Amino acid sequence: MTNDKVGALAEQIENSVNELAAETDAVRKSEVFRRWLDAMAQFSTYSFGNQMAISVQCPTASKVAGFQTWKRLGRHVKKGAKGIAILAPCLYSKKVEPENADSPTVKRLSGFKIAFVFDIAMTDGDALPTLNENSAGAGGEELLPRLEAAVQKLNVVLDYEEIRESGVEGYSTGGRIVIRQGLSVLAKCGVVIHEAAHEILHQHDNRAEANKKTKSQRELEAEATAYVVMRHFGIEHAASNYLATYNVDGEQLRNSLETISGAAKRLIAAIEGVNAEPDDSLGAVP
Ligand SMILES: [Zn+2]
Repeated sequence: MTNDKVGALAEQIENSVNELAAETDAVRKSEVFRRWLDAMAQFSTYSFGNQMAISVQCPTASKVAGFQTWKRLGRHVKKGAKGIAILAPCLYSKKVEPENADSPTVKRLSGFKIAFVFDIAMTDGDALPTLNENSAGAGGEELLPRLEAAVQKLNVVLDYEEIRESGVEGYSTGGRIVIRQGLSVLAKCGVVIHEAAHEILHQHDNRAEANKKTKSQRELEAEATAYVVMRHFGIEHAASNYLATYNVDGEQLRNSLETISGAAKRLIAAIEGVNAEPDDSLGAVP
């Protein structure tokens, strides 16, 4: 690449990151996002045992909550719906010793009882607030095969598989990335770049350093890379909602420019076939 081209690419990446920072801040301030956060806060996270109990009794379950929670969200459990049994902790309040009126109360566990929860499919009513997903829209037919080749050039195996866990579109394991099978071509492009960015930035030689970062910082770096690379190839990628759900703000994005830019340049070069020598490999992959 000539110096002019290198400079133009650096400028383009910086502009993209600045735009993404502004978009992400706008999402965080929006009413839709606030309503979405409120709704999501109603869903508890379940223990591993309860997650198993839910998936055995209702393998198609996607969003699960108790009767009253669904009511708060403007939905009701359909007549005749059979609840999913889980174990709920029984807590009782106890004053901290020595007991007097001012001593704080603590929750003590006295055992478990069976409680029933319901999947969203067993309910009717208001639609839950949603954020735009990347999966919407068409495009990427030309980019995807080039991306697949680029990932291979980085010595990373790419597999399309059914992923059971809802909300997970892909993951990176260090040498292998797995992408959800049923996604649109456009969504696949975004997820492949996101997971490839995890491979470049957070696996192999960078793993120890990456483990010191927060999950939200790692997601910021991967998703912003996807945004920048997609843009480079003329495709809009809705990353701001995803980033907002990880509590990322514009300033953090601008502060991460160097990291995002490093991964984006590497992927763009691999996709465009520049420096397509074997030393592009991410290292010790058998
Ligand atoms: Zn990720």
